[in-house]
Amino acid sequence: MARYTGPVCKLCRREGMKLFLKGDRCLTPKCAISRRNAPPGPRPQRRPPRPSEYGTQLREKQKARRTYGVLERQFRRHFAEANRRTGNTGENLLQVLESRLDNVVYRLGLAASRPAARQIVNHGHIMVNGRRCDIPSRLLRPSDVVAVRPKSRSLGLFEDVVAGAPPRQPPEWLTFDAAALEAHIETLPARGEIDVQISEQLIVEFYSR
Ligand code: SF4
Repeated sequence: MARYTGPVCKLCRREGMKLFLKGDRCLTPKCAISRRNAPPGPRPQRRPPRPSEYGTQLREKQKARRTYGVLERQFRRHFAEANRRTGNTGENLLQVLESRLDNVVYRLGLAASRPAARQIVNHGHIMVNGRRCDIPSRLLRPSDVVAVRPKSRSLGLFEDVVAGAPPRQPPEWLTFDAAALEAHIETLPARGEIDVQISEQLIVEFYSR
């Protein structure tokens, strides 16, 4: 599956906020947002005009896409899936994005960033329900089991997690056994459990135009 391979800090500067795409660097003063929080490109000579309604909706959609590392076509597919489910489409969309395998690997603290989690999955280090799965966009369901492949457990990649010092604590909707490097999906997260600054309603309005 295709993925974005261009400069990533530029994406954060375009959205005007940290999207945490570079792992540890994002928490240091080297972060581009800490150094110069301005959109990429030459400095405008005049004050930029107020964004239109469409512009605001577009930015919100782009922010979500970039946060989760999803390209447009797949994002549309995720939106269609969210629309198909019962309930609030915006919240369903965030639930779908959160249930992606690469996001779950990131949430468990097995990777420093979502792009790094995607690479871990692509390289075949992860199993879902006892079988190797190298598809980062796979959507997980409650009662699925995600684990690091036995052959990959001794790799330096996961030594912080095994030593009890993961980069972040897993959310409540995941149960994680750090010693066994194995997690259970308890339930899909509610909106209050998803800590991303995205106005999902604007994305629904964008696709409803
Ligand atoms: Fe974004 Fe991280 Fe780059 Fe900062 S260091 S601009 S948060 S990707």
